[in-house]
Amino acid sequence: MNKLELIDLHVNVEGKEIIRGINLTLPAGKIHALIGPNGSGKSTLANAIMGHPKYKITSGSIILNGKNITAAKANLRAKEGLFLSFQYPSEISGLSLPAFLRTAVNNLREEGTKYSVVEFHAILQKKMKELGMDPSFSRRDLNAGFSGGEKKRAEMLQLSLLEPKYALLDETDSGLDVDALKLVVECIQKIKAKTNLALLLITHYHKFLEFLQPDLVSVIHDGKIIKQGGKELAKQIEQDGFAKLINSGN
Ligand code: ADP
Ligand code: MG
Repeated sequence: MNKLELIDLHVNVEGKEIIRGINLTLPAGKIHALIGPNGSGKSTLANAIMGHPKYKITSGSIILNGKNITAAKANLRAKEGLFLSFQYPSEISGLSLPAFLRTAVNNLREEGTKYSVVEFHAILQKKMKELGMDPSFSRRDLNAGFSGGEKKRAEMLQLSLLEPKYALLDETDSGLDVDALKLVVECIQKIKAKTNLALLLITHYHKFLEFLQPDLVSVIHDGKIIKQGGKELAKQIEQDGFAKLINSGN
């Protein structure tokens, strides 16, 4: 029951079918890696799971802890414990990072337990320190002028503040140097130990999987899962590339 489940999911983007019948399970507390060549539909799948209005689910269903959320709005999905870290986080000048984060966090909290600006400031400073982010980020606008690595860290900051049950991380490793990657991994492990977080990890970087040790690995190509296995599958693809698997008749 405690899982995120995709059943024969089909997704259209701008009238074109990109996801063509995907079955996938992310059990609570587990790590499921989703790997595949560029343009295979990974980001489309992640956005569709989160309920991005541009990604239209034409058939199939998304079941979260036994509840059908296929047609639910993104904010409801977030309330049910879903989180998406974008491959390309948006820059929003004029919206301060702390204001954005406080709104997001308070949105998930009950009336009477919402954080004041002062309370939230203290929490934010602590989390930023854990992530190795300079305190000056708490005075900046959301992702405005952030480097690639800084944007990814801001995404991790959101993750650690929101404490979702199921997180979809879309190439969170890209643009990070190895030290920053380790910080992100430590952050994820810390949250996971505390909250039993489940992760759908979209990545091209094998090192990330070596650090995080996925329980399951799925390979996506042209909107379909062409192979599933354990972490040894990711290792094999790291060595052989995707072409061999794609050309082997799958
Ligand atoms: P991946 O993340 O695996 O690289 P994407 O999901 O980004 O793949 O893209 C899969 C396909 O869907 C591509 O052909 C891409 O051009 C198309 N696509 C994805 N998002 C959009 C969009 N917002 N508008 C138009 N086409 C899109
Ligand atoms: Mg992508």
